[in-house]
Amino acid sequence: MSVQTPAPSAAPGTSVDLGPAAALSCRECGHRVPLGPVFACEECFGPLEIAYDFSAHDAEELRARIEAGPANIWRYAPLLPVPADVATKPNLNPGWTELVRADNLARELGFTGGLFVKDDSGNPTHSFKDRVVAQALEAARAFGFTTLSCSSTGNLAGAVGAAAARAGLRSCVFIPHDLEQGKVVMAAVYGGELIGIEGNYDDVNRFCSELIGDPAGEGWGFVNVNLRPYYAEGSKTLAYEICEQLGWRLPDQIVVPIASGSQLTKIDKGFRELIRLGLVEDRPYKIFGAQAEGCSPVSAAFKAGHDVVRPQKPDTIAKSLAIGNPADGPYVLDIARRTGGAVEDVTDEQIVDAIKLLARTEGVFAETAGGVTVGVTRKLVESGALDPSLTTVVLNTGDGLKTLDAVAGTGLTATIRPNLDSFREAGLA
Ligand SMILES: *Cc1c(COP(=O)(O)O)cnc(C)c1O
Ligand SMILES: [Zn+2]
Repeated sequence: MSVQTPAPSAAPGTSVDLGPAAALSCRECGHRVPLGPVFACEECFGPLEIAYDFSAHDAEELRARIEAGPANIWRYAPLLPVPADVATKPNLNPGWTELVRADNLARELGFTGGLFVKDDSGNPTHSFKDRVVAQALEAARAFGFTTLSCSSTGNLAGAVGAAAARAGLRSCVFIPHDLEQGKVVMAAVYGGELIGIEGNYDDVNRFCSELIGDPAGEGWGFVNVNLRPYYAEGSKTLAYEICEQLGWRLPDQIVVPIASGSQLTKIDKGFRELIRLGLVEDRPYKIFGAQAEGCSPVSAAFKAGHDVVRPQKPDTIAKSLAIGNPADGPYVLDIARRTGGAVEDVTDEQIVDAIKLLARTEGVFAETAGGVTVGVTRKLVESGALDPSLTTVVLNTGDGLKTLDAVAGTGLTATIRPNLDSFREAGLA
């Protein structure tokens, strides 16, 4: 595998200014390299992540600065790998989505401790992916890439297309050919190139890795491959927002969907950074991972007590989570075990039930991934793994309008003629 990508204007090792980001550091062996479009350690092939220099921050000053910032992810710019003037550049300005106090859902599920839904369907392209793409876009600009690309299960393709359109870059993105129409249209409408690959996500991802090593991919920033260390940091903003919206407090429990597992690992990183910075009190929190039964490699490994994740061939309606060989799977297992959480899965039928439950109780229409987290939350309460007397946050990471097929059975209550007799006959009066 090629670990370095030639970029047009900034070769690896050329210094770029990305705020507090100091270097790339290997998650496995700690080896450090300068910031650049690299994603795997040259010593051990472990994944690289961003290392920061946060030493300059005084907690009270930082909190005041964040609170005075814009109502989007850039309020956290001092904690992200972005240039100082990021808020003034054309981008989609995602984030600061609603943390819904879900009292009706809490009653249905037997919660007494405060249940919240972090509703990330409120982002510009209606999924949490706008957060990660916004970080990758800044890295792409810093390294001089002119084409933005990705391998995607659907939502990422739309987020990349939209971000590239706003920023005036070319985009060319790759998806499995058989995705939901809502995802395909949402990815195509921004005018970039959208390529369907005959295969599943894991095939798409493998293809993109090949393209990166080929001259055909020169000058391309793949947000979730060669820009992955930067991309991944976008998920930390979910952790920051949840804590700030809870009054600078950690939740006791959080339920996070797992596709590659990146989001879950970075939510944990975000919580730990807030503790280290003195922005929240250092209290224990539990992180729970949620998968669909038809693609549950991490859940299966968790239940079997394994440290390695055995790949699966996905078959589920939760296509945004259908990654059979999740890159961050082993780290998710570590985090679930270290924090006292768990990883659980639900059937497609339970996903649909949970989508309807959330819509009926809270007026939030989730995509299938939200059905997975709400369904898993219900299952974990029933099994006793999740304590309903504690403050709990459940993520909804996408919008139900993109996965209408999942709830295709819902529709008209009745069809009547436009007169009162007909209304009465239908038993509606
Ligand atoms: C991509 C995605 C996720 C999580 O992705 P990770 O690869 O685990 O970071 C969750 N929900 C939705 C809707 C997504 O599109
Ligand atoms: Zn290493």
